[in-house]
Amino acid sequence: MLPEHLQQQLEAGAQWRRQGRRGRYAPSPTGRLHLGNLRTALLSWLITRLQGGEWLLRIDDLDTPRNRPGAEASILADLRWLGLHWDGPLIRQSERRGLYSSVLSWLRRSGRLYPCRCSRRLLADISAPHGASPVYPGLCRERGDGWGVQQGRLPSWRLRLPPGLITWPERVAAAGGLDAQSQVGDVVLRRADGFLAYHLATAVDELCLGVADVVRGDDLWSATAPQVAVIRELGGELPDYWHLPLWRDGEGRRLSKREGGVGLASLQEQGLDAPAVVGWMASQLQLVPVGTRISCAELLQAVDLLALRGCLAARA
Ligand code: GLU
Repeated sequence: MLPEHLQQQLEAGAQWRRQGRRGRYAPSPTGRLHLGNLRTALLSWLITRLQGGEWLLRIDDLDTPRNRPGAEASILADLRWLGLHWDGPLIRQSERRGLYSSVLSWLRRSGRLYPCRCSRRLLADISAPHGASPVYPGLCRERGDGWGVQQGRLPSWRLRLPPGLITWPERVAAAGGLDAQSQVGDVVLRRADGFLAYHLATAVDELCLGVADVVRGDDLWSATAPQVAVIRELGGELPDYWHLPLWRDGEGRRLSKREGGVGLASLQEQGLDAPAVVGWMASQLQLVPVGTRISCAELLQAVDLLALRGCLAARA
């Protein structure tokens, strides 16, 4: 049984799901948003607003060494400048660590986690060469090891995935499904150094905030499986996932926030205003003719969800 306070948080999320469709945009504050990030934000906002839903802004700032000073402020400023206004207070994952930790403790108490002492190097050595994505082979699964310090190190905490296919409702990209054992592997929810994993926090947030639509880049398509596994452990309802094709530069490389991929600043320096930028992004997706000047609010009136989904699916 989940402790009462967790039960209440999950019930609050379920209540939101019954009331309407909430969406969220969840950037990590690792740098200034680039145009690909902003286009994802615009689409997430549109998809939610077209369904009359609330749009939340969540800052995924748990991975503190990657956070950059000033990044959060610039994210808020860029979204406001474009006319993408969120509902309710800004949500920061760093302020919700207590919630994630109680979920983690409950998972551990109920035997869903096991301690893992495999080092990164060991895992790199045994994984397939040439960067094929490593699937944890379950070395520590049956060891029955303790949770304490050994040889000066604490273990990481892994979620034991039940065998079978992990599936999720996918609205844009390829149908959501990965095999737990051969394609996903038992996932780390708490690193040996105490950091709480993004998968844990994200899954708990989707549930407790009652998120119905997760709109994000398709680089996170396979990250969905571990998040779905956590949501399933908590007995929650899955959101619909919209994994969008990434924006690539002229040479086919994906833009990177950390490397300072082209952002709003350069367009603002060229004298473009928000309707010009929104129109340009929307015309790239063939939602409006090239050269259209349009505000976010006007775009909302100009498109419908079916057509939008069709445009996105055609590009996936
Ligand atoms: N914070 C993640 C990122 O900026 C996205 C998380 C998500 O949308 O689930 O890449």
